[in-house]
Amino acid sequence: MARVVILGAGISGHTAALHLQRQLKSKAEIIVVSPNSNWNWIPSNIWVGVGKMTKDQVTFPLAPIYKRKHIGFRQAKAVAIHPEGSPDNPQGFVDIVYTDPTRVGEEEQLTYDYLIVATGPKLNFAATPGLGPDANSWSVCTAGHAEQSAAALETIIEALKAGERKTLVIGVGHGTCTCEGAAFEYTFNVEHELRERGVRERADVVYLSNEYDLGDLGVGGMIFAQNGFETSSKLWTESLFRERGVRAILRAHVEKVDPGVIHYEELDGSRHTLDFDFAMLLPPFRGVDMKAYASNGEDITEDLFAPNGFLRVDADYETKPFEQWAPEDWPKTYQCPRYANIFGVGIAFAPPHAISEPRKSPNGTVISPAPPRTGMPSGVIGRTVALSIADRIRRGDQATLRTASMAAMGAACIASAGTGLRKGSAAAITMYPIIPDRRRFPGSGRDLTQTSGDIGLSGHWTKLLLHYLFIYKAKARFGWFVIPE
Ligand SMILES: Cc1cc2nc3c(=O)[nH]c(=O)nc-3n(C[C@H](O)[C@H](O)[C@H](O)COP(=O)(O)OP(=O)(O)OC[C@H]3O[C@@H](n4cnc5c(N)ncnc54)[C@H](O)[C@@H]3O)c2cc1C
Repeated sequence: MARVVILGAGISGHTAALHLQRQLKSKAEIIVVSPNSNWNWIPSNIWVGVGKMTKDQVTFPLAPIYKRKHIGFRQAKAVAIHPEGSPDNPQGFVDIVYTDPTRVGEEEQLTYDYLIVATGPKLNFAATPGLGPDANSWSVCTAGHAEQSAAALETIIEALKAGERKTLVIGVGHGTCTCEGAAFEYTFNVEHELRERGVRERADVVYLSNEYDLGDLGVGGMIFAQNGFETSSKLWTESLFRERGVRAILRAHVEKVDPGVIHYEELDGSRHTLDFDFAMLLPPFRGVDMKAYASNGEDITEDLFAPNGFLRVDADYETKPFEQWAPEDWPKTYQCPRYANIFGVGIAFAPPHAISEPRKSPNGTVISPAPPRTGMPSGVIGRTVALSIADRIRRGDQATLRTASMAAMGAACIASAGTGLRKGSAAAITMYPIIPDRRRFPGSGRDLTQTSGDIGLSGHWTKLLLHYLFIYKAKARFGWFVIPE
């Protein structure tokens, strides 16, 4: 029986596991490896970070789901891939190290016929001295981090209530960060919470980002058709910042975070400091730093993984100037070029380049967003690769691989701007395609009729509904597969 090993049980890996099991039932053995015992609906960490949800509301244990679905589960982290096997056995295998409290530190070699790398990002706090919850700033990247942020925010709110003035800085902690959408959401959720608690006027809320313009969000901004006119995500976002009194510092690379002081460089090369009482700064992402070895023991990590640690797939990785970036650069099948039975999905695949225009300061510092791979494309790619592997297991290697290029895919994202059934709001954003195609859509590179933005209470209700819907789906409850990724 063929064995499919999936490294990672986040949005893309878990989606792939459920679809593979549904497709193949007992025709294949499916094993998921993940160091965390829980699944986390990461988008709702924002609400945990303002104390409006608990960690338990955004996570659930994976083991019972996998047991019910007859999917093998190893609570372990993958540390190395051996795509050519060993000198005595050519079957590929992965070295895993258990994090399961009952077997912690134990090692195992897990053979596979197909391997899906869905390990998401390594939260690279180390890239910026002083960044992160073990140092001088907070994070909302994991449910645990978000709980810590909520507790720190509560302390600030108490001080504001006592009449003190406080500066809250929210944004990204390095010039090459991605996930500006999450920083945007947390900014406005904090701002909303401060208003709800009656302390807004004593708080200076600052958004600190590597974006060139507000509304860039790592996708180069968007142009929408609205009421017969064209508008941009820049105009739209600027008006929200004005309305809510949030100060923005853009084009910034955080160099260092000292207790209470952020040191940053701007795109013009100037250097500044910003004092803070509370700072939530997202880290840059890189791959999880797995190694790879040939059967003779030769280190082939650089063949499999790009320098940023993400898995190389069927993308065009040739370095090109921005003007020459093309939709065809982006991967379609997510197959590893050197080993046909390895695939990379979600954040784990190496993108060919950014989406926003790359920029450097006169000091040579890169200050522009890395390309986001949000939940919807991560899920769609996970499902597509699962279906490709199911086809190959059923029909053999001649089965054509399915495709899911981000250059031919739309995305919808709902960015919360404050929670509450009556007073909440969220920005509902759709775009098509995710990767701009300036030949098909001259000007903005996207279809204006399928790219839109709207903010209001209905967006909040939709975001809340999606929270419950995606957790229902991830729990593989009745009819889960009809809920789209
Ligand atoms: C705060 C925040 C808010 C967000 N909000 C939104 C939103 O509103 N909408 C949206 O579309 N997207 C949002 N995103 C992005 C979204 O969370 C990601 O697109 C999505 O989680 C990517 O899925 P993934 O499977 O690639 O990675 P992940 O979901 O991060 O999963 C990675 C998995 O790999 C596991 N893993 C790590 N290392 C190893 C290893 N060595 N071996 C085996 N397994 C390993 C992890 O434990 C995890 O299970 C947000 C992100 C953040 C940080």
